[in-house]
Amino acid sequence: MAENDDGITRQFLDAVEFRGVNRRDFLKYCGATAALLGLSELYAPKIAAAIEEASKRPPVVWINFASDSGCTEALIKATYPNAADLVLDVLSLDYNETIMAAAGKQAEEILTNSRKEGGYILVVEGGIPTRKGFGMIGGKEMMDVFKEQAVPAVAILAVGSCATCGGVPAAAPNPAQIIGVSQALTKLGINKPLVNLDLCPVNVEFLTAVIVNYLLLGKLPEVDSVGRPKMFYGQPIHQNCERRSHFDGGRFVEKFGSKEESLGYCLFKMGCKGPMTYSACPKVRYNNRVSWCIGAGGPCIGCAEPGWPDKFAGFYNRLPDVKMAGYQATTEKIGAAAAIVTAAGIAVHALGSAVSGRLKGKDEGGEK
Ligand code: SF4
Repeated sequence: MAENDDGITRQFLDAVEFRGVNRRDFLKYCGATAALLGLSELYAPKIAAAIEEASKRPPVVWINFASDSGCTEALIKATYPNAADLVLDVLSLDYNETIMAAAGKQAEEILTNSRKEGGYILVVEGGIPTRKGFGMIGGKEMMDVFKEQAVPAVAILAVGSCATCGGVPAAAPNPAQIIGVSQALTKLGINKPLVNLDLCPVNVEFLTAVIVNYLLLGKLPEVDSVGRPKMFYGQPIHQNCERRSHFDGGRFVEKFGSKEESLGYCLFKMGCKGPMTYSACPKVRYNNRVSWCIGAGGPCIGCAEPGWPDKFAGFYNRLPDVKMAGYQATTEKIGAAAAIVTAAGIAVHALGSAVSGRLKGKDEGGEK
């Protein structure tokens, strides 16, 4: 089959273009994904080839459990890449009950066939109810459906906070006794490679990059102690936040609608959980990398952290005072002591080395 200079077949590029993604944008997406994965841009053609290879078989089954389908919404509304085309069509998403055309018995058949063939990446959206009668798919308890689909999978991606830890559906008092994928696997005694993509909703670029990582290298990325890819969850939001220089300078929003808010000051006093939340949100952002929560003026509510939302409720409450050896930072002392507060918050998450570099004046500072 004829290949162009990038090693991708003409037929495949025609198929991609037919889906509304031109060759240039497709290769741009591959280059951006290479950067997300920490690879050289020279890997872009290899990523394109891996996606082409994946288009020949159905590698992804996506099941919705207890959630509002916000992650599916994020997927189909993503504009860069045109994920509906790249992931749904090019990566042959085999089953997604929210957006697939099939319904009823036809949909059940697809799921049954996927189990027979096995070898797929199981994408789980939503928490899993463990109390009988509180969540059914096709007449079966969600926990049973999860078990059936997890066993033949080669790997599982838990997308969004509901899937990783239960999220909003598992918030107190959690009458359906909803749990996340990791807990469900333990409960069922199933051992599978698992990646947790916390956030509400999932960042589609994180998701497609993890899938591409698997297609390209045949393995899942390195994860942290709670199963999140280190490449996306290795630094606190606060470290890369565009309002960081205001935090360091003691310039805070104290009231919405104020002059300070219009000047883009730091949202710490409005309840921002950025110092305690690990995610690449400030770098990758959402909606064609245009914006993100803090960029749009809302304090980070900590949705990338296990235990959310209960852990950080109420969302507009300031973080509690943070203690570190020989120093106690209170919310009244922030400003002059801002850097120390930050250090304390980050020390809680045991990433002291990066912070000590910043405190010595070696690190990034804010953008504004
Ligand atoms: Fe950004 Fe929040 Fe940190 Fe302020 S406290 S710099 S708004 S992450």
